[in-house]
Amino acid sequence: MGEVPRDLFVPEHVRDLAYEDTPLHIGYGQTISAPSMVGVMCDILDIRETDKVLEVGTGCGYHAAVMSRLASRGTVYTVERIPELAERAKALLRELGYDNVIVLTGDGSEGLPDFAPYDCISVAAAAPKVPDPLAQELAEGGRMVVPVGRYLQELILVEKKNGKISTYPRGGVAFVPLIGKEGFKGG
Ligand code: SAH
Repeated sequence: MGEVPRDLFVPEHVRDLAYEDTPLHIGYGQTISAPSMVGVMCDILDIRETDKVLEVGTGCGYHAAVMSRLASRGTVYTVERIPELAERAKALLRELGYDNVIVLTGDGSEGLPDFAPYDCISVAAAAPKVPDPLAQELAEGGRMVVPVGRYLQELILVEKKNGKISTYPRGGVAFVPLIGKEGFKGG
């Protein structure tokens, strides 16, 4: 995380807060997660150097950049439903040289089956329940973190071991809603 310049990912008017441990508004009603939250999610996922990672909810691309350093010999696919945010993140990640990040636009609540299976899936928006299609896209030994709930949310770790899916609660969190087929209605 020390290598990724968070100040370049946030809008100019909040740049002086970039290194505070707080979420910040990034426009379109969305936020960049607090750095500690990004750290906790990466830690729970136990991202390895060669992992193939899927992120649902690119936002400004900061979290994807951090994961791309952890999976430095792997690939990070990240999908964002708001085209303007996806385009902005894509341009910035390219400019800063995060070459192993692929940004796509669309509803990621069902994941990206074309590139599955994934070693890690990081969901950056809160779902009504663990999205089944996402769990199906986990590789054997794969891990997913996903906030579940509408207002009071729990961060859930989902693991696939011997073909079996298990879930473990990992603490209370607050995320914007996942909007889409496997998410909430809206947008
Ligand atoms: N990962 C970001 C945080 C993004 S906030 C970071 O670096 O801090 C969550 C993002 O999820 C928002 O930009 C929102 O537009 C997006 N989102 C919500 N529902 C989605 C869906 N179904 N598919 C893809 N992105 C979604």
